[in-house]
Amino acid sequence: MTVYDQHMHTLFSPDSSETFEEYLKHTPGMLVTTEHLDFNDHYVDGEDTKLDYQSYNQTIDQLNEKYNNRIRKGIEIGYTKESYNQIQDYLIDKEFDVQLLSVHQNGEYDFLQPIVKEKDVQDVMNDYFPLLLEAVTNFPTANVLAHFDYGIRLFDASVEELQGHETIVKQVLQKVIDKQMAIELNTRSMYQYGNVALYEQMIDWYVVLGGKSVSLGSDAHSTDYYGYHFEDAIALLEKHGISSVTIFEKQQPTQLPSSEMKKER
Ligand SMILES: [Zn+2]
Ligand SMILES: [Zn+2]
Repeated sequence: MTVYDQHMHTLFSPDSSETFEEYLKHTPGMLVTTEHLDFNDHYVDGEDTKLDYQSYNQTIDQLNEKYNNRIRKGIEIGYTKESYNQIQDYLIDKEFDVQLLSVHQNGEYDFLQPIVKEKDVQDVMNDYFPLLLEAVTNFPTANVLAHFDYGIRLFDASVEELQGHETIVKQVLQKVIDKQMAIELNTRSMYQYGNVALYEQMIDWYVVLGGKSVSLGSDAHSTDYYGYHFEDAIALLEKHGISSVTIFEKQQPTQLPSSEMKKER
């Protein structure tokens, strides 16, 4: 299987130590890495996690000469209201093939920090989904809405609990459609954090609203998770009548038939 994994990290993200070369050895296909941009990052005591673009760019350009242009450039933008201007300033003079949009935190803590587990899942949903709606409403240039369930990854939230927030989740999905973005199937959320049923419900709503554009991302931080459970995610999409995924080059979308990924090369 030659996957196109549109969400993954290398040592250009502080929480990964994997090299491009290891990923290149691991897959014969195209690579796109989506490195972190998180201002006031609670994982590093409120410091800014800011991709060193110059070094990233240089490294990829060099590797692309050696490896036949197999690497594309991406960024995962961690949205907060407070950092909106900083994000814009950062992006203004930089080029990426794909921009992922994420909500990782609420200004006080990251939704994967242990403190979140002590809270009630309903309270966390009431906090998280409005932030997600705000991100997708306010953010002008992003291509993919990443891990829609990030805020509740630490809970075993049921489909019924998600359905209690149907209105706002559908508003988020409608924005994704209106802005011609793709929605991400985050396969670590689905198959490592056990949220596959939530994704099935979300895709149901998305398709009924007219959504067609889907991105597949493992959120790998090492080669172990590259293309994680993509076969299962592709089968789930096909069950919902979606037979291609959306990939981006210079932020322009094209459709990649999932049959292409299933081929052995
Ligand atoms: Zn993320
Ligand atoms: Zn990520």
